[in-house]
Amino acid sequence: MNAMQALALFGSLGTPELVLILFIVLLLFGAAKLPQLGGAMGKTIRNFKQEMKDGASGGGQPAAHGPCPKCGAQVTDPDASFCPQCGQKL
Ligand SMILES: [Zn+2]
Repeated sequence: MNAMQALALFGSLGTPELVLILFIVLLLFGAAKLPQLGGAMGKTIRNFKQEMKDGASGGGQPAAHGPCPKCGAQVTDPDASFCPQCGQKL
């Protein structure tokens, strides 16, 4: 089945078909496992959001001290007391 056929099939689904699919999913996973499944999905979404946030901020460890006030160098060591570039106290 190609993507267009899958789309056409999905588009032709009415409410009774959706209810039937939901019922089959319930049978497959078991009602007791659904909260677990939802939790796993929530976790995945949370991880995804966290990664999006990390990506937006440049990725990797966030700088504990922003840029050096004197020379503007990014101080990446969170324990640094002085700028490694110019020695300015942070
Ligand atoms: Zn500096």
